[in-house]
Amino acid sequence: MTEALLSEFRCLRCGRCCQWEGPVRVTQQEILAIAGFLHIPLEEFLRDHTVLAPDRKSLSLRETQEGACVYYDKKERSCLLQEVKPAQCRNFPLHWNFPGWEEECEGGKALKKAMHGCGKTPLDPSPGVPEGQKEEKKDFSH
Ligand code: SF4
Repeated sequence: MTEALLSEFRCLRCGRCCQWEGPVRVTQQEILAIAGFLHIPLEEFLRDHTVLAPDRKSLSLRETQEGACVYYDKKERSCLLQEVKPAQCRNFPLHWNFPGWEEECEGGKALKKAMHGCGKTPLDPSPGVPEGQKEEKKDFSH
């Protein structure tokens, strides 16, 4: 899928990206912002709420046993870190996605349907997982 088409993506809060297995990488600034937002001392947040990403190049947020992000609130269908959520989360599906995302994600399905209806180019099967980031996941553009 082209960047122009992806830019028309609208999040429908299905939460599939948040529940997709894989690390949610966080930068130093994001860690500070999230720890502050949650009123958790930085050391405690680092120790109890982050883990080393698989490539050991950054930290990522803790996950559930199933690999979902612990900050996804299923009941409310929302991110508990909405105001400070990481850039990785905001960049779905434009800068990262997962194989078959457009069939899993409600926003992806809607976009595909809309594109089909107006004769635009259909989605590619898996548009843009950057090299070396295949294990990445998530976002929410709300
Ligand atoms: S938007 Fe990011 S931080 Fe928030 S629940 Fe989803 S994966 Fe977690």
